Amino acid sequence: MAATYGFKACRKIRGAQIRGLLEAKEFFLFDCDGVLWHGEKAVAGAAQVVNSLMRQGKNVVFVTNNSTRPRDKYVHKFYRLGFTAVALEHIFSSSYCSALYLRDVAKLRGQVFVVGCDGLRDELREAGIPCVEEADEPDATIYDCALAADVKAVLVGHDDKLTFLKLAKASCYLKDPNCLFLATDNDPWHPLSSGRILPGSGSLMAALEVASGRKATVIGKPNRYMFECISSQFPGMDPAQCLMVGDRLETDMLFGSNCGLDTMLTLTGVSQMEEAHQYENSEEYQSLVPDYVVDTIADLLSAFE
Ligand SMILES: [Mg+2]
Repeated sequence: MAATYGFKACRKIRGAQIRGLLEAKEFFLFDCDGVLWHGEKAVAGAAQVVNSLMRQGKNVVFVTNNSTRPRDKYVHKFYRLGFTAVALEHIFSSSYCSALYLRDVAKLRGQVFVVGCDGLRDELREAGIPCVEEADEPDATIYDCALAADVKAVLVGHDDKLTFLKLAKASCYLKDPNCLFLATDNDPWHPLSSGRILPGSGSLMAALEVASGRKATVIGKPNRYMFECISSQFPGMDPAQCLMVGDRLETDMLFGSNCGLDTMLTLTGVSQMEEAHQYENSEEYQSLVPDYVVDTIADLLSAFE
């Protein structure tokens, strides 16, 4: 939404404006963490909003940089939290899209070395991508451990069991210029409800970029590749009829802008109104400014009453 001087003005919308917006859009892309839920707790009203949109025949997909679980586990989580109509084909996680990239774009011949959680490996195997099995060798070091001969890609995601040995092995594989260097996403950190934070995939990717002197290809938001995955599976989708709903300016809002979608920020997650206002008058950061802001996804419920 262009405002005065060509700069965006982020504005809260309510009531009839929300109803008009939901009627005008055919395709809804939701981020998950911080929008629909926090960990295992659904945001109040989120499931009703998603269920109502689906019941109205709108297209709804979920676009998450979280690579820690395969899509079938996401389906269970959605169901557990009350999103009862969500199926595999609605879920576009950075692990699933990384698997599609390796299979369909890179056409990988060889194995992937994964710095990430078991869920990421499961998703790759589901797509027929072989991963290096990590041997259980507690005393192994980079001086004497085995390295697989046919590693053609290193994929970095969120890894809560990261070891120095894993980083060292990945750095060795990346010495081969024919070995692809991919990251599921570039998220710097994630908030925990205790006020603590978790370092994200981006921090592990940065370590390997420094060690290898190379730049990773990032699959997740804010890059466009996940949108290409969605549009290839929903032919005919028109960016002008899409709304991207998320809680993080640097990933969700920028992703929407990069893909030509209208964007909506919910204030139940990482980014707050003050940050969005800070970017409003900056030409450089216009693409981080949301078109619309709501306090919570539950504000959309008014459109169904
Ligand atoms: Mg989020």
